[in-house]
Amino acid sequence: MVPPCAPTVYDERTTNLIQRQIIILTHAQLCKQREQQQALRSMHVTQCNLPYCREMKNVLNHISTCRNTTHCEETHCKPTRSILRHWRNCTDRQCTICEPVRQARDNCAILNISKLSLS
Ligand SMILES: [Zn+2]
Ligand SMILES: [Zn+2]
Ligand SMILES: [Zn+2]
Repeated sequence: MVPPCAPTVYDERTTNLIQRQIIILTHAQLCKQREQQQALRSMHVTQCNLPYCREMKNVLNHISTCRNTTHCEETHCKPTRSILRHWRNCTDRQCTICEPVRQARDNCAILNISKLSLS
């Protein structure tokens, strides 16, 4: 049984910059997996046109190959790495950054990425 959804729209008024980055990063990770699956099955790869998605995929690609973790010149490399590390390891139910994002996901939230900006 699929639980009923209680969609919450997340936009700039309800999120801070780090939360927006987490939302977009987790989307980009799933989006990348979907594209890889489609390519593997020789299916038509549906292009995602959400803002920042392509950019974040590039950052994710960079991070997975980056060996210069302490002195990397790439602007997004270190900050994104630390956000991802926190997000993956954070188990604090009181965390003011992750908890609202987790709850939004649990509620099948419509993450209104198209309205998010990363500045
Ligand atoms: Zn996407
Ligand atoms: Zn790097
Ligand atoms: Zn956290």
